[in-house]
Amino acid sequence: MNCILLGPPGAGKGTQGKKIEEAFGVVHLSTGDMFREARKSDKVVDELIALGQLVPDDIVVDVIKKRLQKEDIKKGFLLDGFPRTLNQAKEFDVVLETRQIKIDLVFFIDVHFEESVKRIAGRRVCPSCGVSYHVIATPPKVPDKCDFCCNLLVQRNDDRESIVRDRLKIYRKHSEPLVDYYKRAGSIVYIDGSKGELDVFKQISKHLEIR
Ligand code: AMP
Repeated sequence: MNCILLGPPGAGKGTQGKKIEEAFGVVHLSTGDMFREARKSDKVVDELIALGQLVPDDIVVDVIKKRLQKEDIKKGFLLDGFPRTLNQAKEFDVVLETRQIKIDLVFFIDVHFEESVKRIAGRRVCPSCGVSYHVIATPPKVPDKCDFCCNLLVQRNDDRESIVRDRLKIYRKHSEPLVDYYKRAGSIVYIDGSKGELDVFKQISKHLEIR
């Protein structure tokens, strides 16, 4: 089973992707994670991510094409953060057709933009062990310190409120049209992302279990 997760930054795509991977054995493919790894050695990507800007389509499609050549995707995959523009979606359709891969479901996790801002701008991460917190929803035991290694927590540059608002503007312009694109293809499932993590997971699982 191959799926796509759509939704604005802060909708919980990454969290749900990990949970679905664990529960259903599909591979969680997050282009955000791939580029966060790439930014360590690529200055251009590093700057684009820091500013909340999109990586150019040709680079993104190339990364996905390469990733889909790996054996593990045969167990099924769940794309998170891709496609993100109409152009990526159209190019991806060609890749899928050439390789005879079918997308079974596209989930659109819907959440209000102000909720996205609250969720992302409150995020803090431990630079040492990578554990993340939320200042209100899941605060560390001691303010600003990691529960596990006591390091000072930091806010990712692209999680700062001004950058989050830029990311949401980019989402509205480039990614929101994808909902209609996949609606026309008849494969979209609406998920109410305003609910808690577990509820959202249940909404998604319902559709995966019957397949
Ligand atoms: P995410 O974690 O999905 O929000 O992605 C983090 C960052 O990686 C984005 O702000 C972009 O700079 C880059 N990125 C991830 N996926 C894509 C994509 N499909 N197209 C363009 N840029 C992307």
